[in-house]
Amino acid sequence: SPQELPAAPDPAVKVVVRSRPANGHERGDSMVRKVSDDSVSIADRKFTFDSVLDSNSTQEDVFQLVGVPLVKNALAGYNTSVLAYGQTGSGKTYTMWGPPSAMVEGHSADSHQGIVPRIFQMLLSEIQREQENSEGKQINYQCRCSFLEIFNEQIWDLLDPTQRNLEIKDDAKNGFYVENLTEEYVTSYEDVTQILIKGLSSRKVGATSINSKSSRSHIVFTCVIESWCKGTSSKCFGSSKTSRISLIDLAGLERNKLDDVGREYAKEGKNVKKSLSQFGHLVNILAEGVRSRKSEDIPYRSSSLTHLLRESLGGNAKLTVICTISPDNKSIGETVSTLRFGQLVK
Ligand code: ADP
Ligand code: MG
Repeated sequence: SPQELPAAPDPAVKVVVRSRPANGHERGDSMVRKVSDDSVSIADRKFTFDSVLDSNSTQEDVFQLVGVPLVKNALAGYNTSVLAYGQTGSGKTYTMWGPPSAMVEGHSADSHQGIVPRIFQMLLSEIQREQENSEGKQINYQCRCSFLEIFNEQIWDLLDPTQRNLEIKDDAKNGFYVENLTEEYVTSYEDVTQILIKGLSSRKVGATSINSKSSRSHIVFTCVIESWCKGTSSKCFGSSKTSRISLIDLAGLERNKLDDVGREYAKEGKNVKKSLSQFGHLVNILAEGVRSRKSEDIPYRSSSLTHLLRESLGGNAKLTVICTISPDNKSIGETVSTLRFGQLVK
């Protein structure tokens, strides 16, 4: 049953846009311009979000903006999710995980380290501090993680690649869960980075072309945090909590590219929501569920992703969508549809 929590001061759904820097083949004359802290313009069109990070933004900037509030909310008992959305090559994977070489022990200050390892570094040190400092109430924490891939609507276990086509089950005790999915308990940053490195390398299997599997699959890293009080003092009353962190690197948006982006761009109003690609529609469903705080209203069985995330959306949940865009003018169609999508989610 959803926990009754006071509404946190930050919004239930936040949309952040991040542009990656131009690479060697691209020209620096991008039509996409950051015009204020929360807006972007393309030609005469302005798009407004919660925040916009330009190509000078660092991984630490993304962490401060998205990761720090996420950790605070997660420890307060909120279900929290981050979704990275954008065309292939726009920086979803870089933003979420960063390169594996930036994750390993001793490299924690690496500037390329992604938001996910940064989140767990902070989360686990906050938990450790809480366990050491709690006066009168002894709070115990348990964190368990899983890592999966959704490819062609099938669920694959990234921590055990022999497990494919796993099924989503529902029971009264556990709610929705993925049957036979590997879950690993973590107590340290190294525990988490080992899981991340292992899972990300499983995702790469078979990814040899531009149209690789990794650009057509969603990957979902989940951590369930349970906390409870061992003491008998009155401070302990009502202090057990369960919250879920879901971190999602979505398939490339171009997979269900709008048929005619130019035409869509010119078209305004309520038809736009209807005409969004099936994939955009799916993310919109998630955002709608969080906003309305009624996951039972979500047509969650319509896809493996929504089905899977149902537990993360119920009750008091927080969702951040990071829309990643490329500065390349050749990608302007995808960039417009990413920004348009981000505005609809808002
Ligand atoms: P996606 O996951 O959206 O397909 P990637 O994260 O793989 O895109 O990024 C494509 C390339 O651009 C990678 O080589 C990545 O290292 C680089 N890149 C993406 N975002 C940034 C950024 N903000 N700063 C520096 N390099 C970036
Ligand atoms: Mg990627």
